[in-house]
Amino acid sequence: MQPEQLATGIYAVIPPTRELPGAQNRSWNSNSAFIVTDDGVLVVDTGSPTEIGEALKTAIAGVTNQPVRWILNTHAHGDHWLGNAAFEESVENIYATQTVINQIKSQGENWVSNFKRMTDGATGNSRIIPPDTAIDSRRELQLGNKQIVLFPSGNSHSPGDLLLWLPDDRVLISGDVIYSDRMPSTNNSNLQQWITLLQELEQLQPQTVIPGHGRVTNVHGIEQLHALLTALWQAVEEGYNANLATYETVPLARVRLADFAGTYPGMDEKLPRDVPRVYLQVEAATF
Ligand SMILES: [Zn+2]
Repeated sequence: MQPEQLATGIYAVIPPTRELPGAQNRSWNSNSAFIVTDDGVLVVDTGSPTEIGEALKTAIAGVTNQPVRWILNTHAHGDHWLGNAAFEESVENIYATQTVINQIKSQGENWVSNFKRMTDGATGNSRIIPPDTAIDSRRELQLGNKQIVLFPSGNSHSPGDLLLWLPDDRVLISGDVIYSDRMPSTNNSNLQQWITLLQELEQLQPQTVIPGHGRVTNVHGIEQLHALLTALWQAVEEGYNANLATYETVPLARVRLADFAGTYPGMDEKLPRDVPRVYLQVEAATF
């Protein structure tokens, strides 16, 4: 792991692959970030499995002697928090929304067994250390010399996602609300809310965006995703209004989204699953 410094004390750790967890990547497919303050380190998403959390701990120790005192889990998908256990000795607060705390407590074991199956056993038995400090509305925290703003996404990419904004450095750490160069997962999303949120994030004019998956980006990465998700919504709406069935709307969406396929690998495989989900949301929005 090579931490990449993006601003004073702010680092990203980006895995070489962006595919779903498998035997080859040993389930290391999501981005982590960490912020070194003069009073300890905050880690945003600890990766998966715990073995990856251990590697992240070693990578952080290569940059600073400060202990990891705080963790933030951006959302409940297992690729972002199964590494928590690696930091158990030093961590004082693990932040997440109450929704995410509840989900990790109730569904955590499913993530462990699913990843074990998907990686042919490579991920082993990660121990579940759920978040313990709920943040359910916009909150400013002073951690050492760094001012940090936490705010929920309004359940846009998944129920309870939490984002982190560093106003002095204009750095946004977004979790899976932003994907920079892989088709995002819409399976737990509220697409209309997600589009609205992206509009708000553009207004922050971040200089640097650390997404949940994919390369580090900036406000243009947000604008691009905003355009993709808007085009997806509009294509499904067009199919719905023309009385097409979901399976007939998939090829229509492929045509309407063709320009995005190069930027977001995996789109072709994901659309047959995305379109039916968005179709239900379009239908619900009509009533
Ligand atoms: Zn993810």
